[in-house]
Amino acid sequence: MAKEKEVPLYIKMDEADNVAVVGKDGGLPAGTVFDCGLTLLEHVPQGHKAALVDIKKGEAIVRYGEVIGLAAKDIKQGSWVEESLVELPTAPELDELPLAIKVPQTLPPLEGYTFEGYRNADGSVSTKNLLGISTSVQCVAGVLNYAVKRIKEELLPKYPNVDDVVALNHAYGCGVAINAPEAVVPIRLVKNLALHPNFGGEVLVVGLGCEKLLPERVTKDKNNIISLQDYQGFDSMVQKIMAEAEMRLKRLNKRTRVTCPVADLVIGLQCGGSDALSGVTANPSVGYAADLLVRAGATVMFSEVTEVRDAVHLLTPRVANEQVGRDLIREMKWYDRYLELGEVDRSANTTPGNKKGGLANIVEKAMGSIAKSGKSAIVEVLRPGERPTKKGLIYAATPASDFVCGTCQLASGIHLQVFTTGRGTPYGLSVAPVIKVGTRNSLKQQWPDLIDVNAGSIAAGETTIEEVGWEIFRLIVDVASGRKETWADHWGLYNDLCLFNPAPIT
Ligand code: CA
Repeated sequence: MAKEKEVPLYIKMDEADNVAVVGKDGGLPAGTVFDCGLTLLEHVPQGHKAALVDIKKGEAIVRYGEVIGLAAKDIKQGSWVEESLVELPTAPELDELPLAIKVPQTLPPLEGYTFEGYRNADGSVSTKNLLGISTSVQCVAGVLNYAVKRIKEELLPKYPNVDDVVALNHAYGCGVAINAPEAVVPIRLVKNLALHPNFGGEVLVVGLGCEKLLPERVTKDKNNIISLQDYQGFDSMVQKIMAEAEMRLKRLNKRTRVTCPVADLVIGLQCGGSDALSGVTANPSVGYAADLLVRAGATVMFSEVTEVRDAVHLLTPRVANEQVGRDLIREMKWYDRYLELGEVDRSANTTPGNKKGGLANIVEKAMGSIAKSGKSAIVEVLRPGERPTKKGLIYAATPASDFVCGTCQLASGIHLQVFTTGRGTPYGLSVAPVIKVGTRNSLKQQWPDLIDVNAGSIAAGETTIEEVGWEIFRLIVDVASGRKETWADHWGLYNDLCLFNPAPIT
């Protein structure tokens, strides 16, 4: 029988750290004595920090080797460093960041990794075979939902090679300042969502006929547009949508999976409902998998501006060249200004759940969040919803809000998303599979039928980051091939598409 591994009592991320995180389920009681001789003065909950030394008021609190805050008052060695004791430091100054000074060496290539996907006419691949029906305005959502329900009941069973029919409803299209400078963002999102690779090149846009976002701006081909105001009565519009859908279902049904290189995959990374173990277990494992994907030639994007803003000084040295660095700073500045206009700053990001999970503030959250990006060079930076032009590790600027980030990454063409969570969320996307990675054993026990991968075993000392990283990589290949199903797909749990619209609504 294998010898049972020791459960580590606390997790220190860097030699320079003066706090450490309690990994044990349920936390640790006052009086707990660590190997190093440190005694806890009070109960410290799981995911929360204990002071390793006395920290004087105003002194730096260091985790991940980085200053995550300043002590609001004297903190005694062995006490619980709870949120109110951690004052938020200022964000890194954007104009003084070193660019491309520590560009990581290219890691040895991983050759021979393939998956079973669908090949599209434009050379891209699909991980699902979906009929996507887009919209140019929210007004049509009710009619489209009615038609899609009937398509699924009456037509889809005749075309067994098609996985599903997806209505791309959203809140944009009319009642918006369509010519506002920032309207380019939601318009780009609607356009690029309609062209998602999992739709196999089939485009169909349902519009109303009087909206500001003309359907012709979504698709140039008039044969792909149905404007409801052109039809006599409700039934004729439903019949038209169903007829156009069936034409496309027939073509999609002819598609079969073929062997494709992993290099053709575009994988999105995100976190949501993070806790202090996110940066210890799930995010570093995803980062390891990201490096494997990059080594296999794939495209990997990480996002969530407010969650990299405080760690941007750790990213700018890693960009492939100075231009990529300037693009990264451009996106950070854009978001600083966006938040400023709303009279908040990046500290508005953290949620009550994050704090309950031990994340004192956005700096600590950001340090854990960027672990998802692994160790590769950042080769390109995208504005929200833009498509990548390069393979490798990409920074795709998006809000951190789960469903908004998910929608932006779909517009950027991800075939699959890997999503880490500590607090737990049933989140899923209808257009691309979502693999959910949990940060702690107790979450996997609580939600065995929602969490796909348990990285909590790392905190318990049962597995390593490398092992879980490989597990995620293999699961990506299996899910992309249709051999394995994510829990979200199994139950059909899909969030709404939520466009990012930084422009005014009229
Ligand atoms: Ca998120």
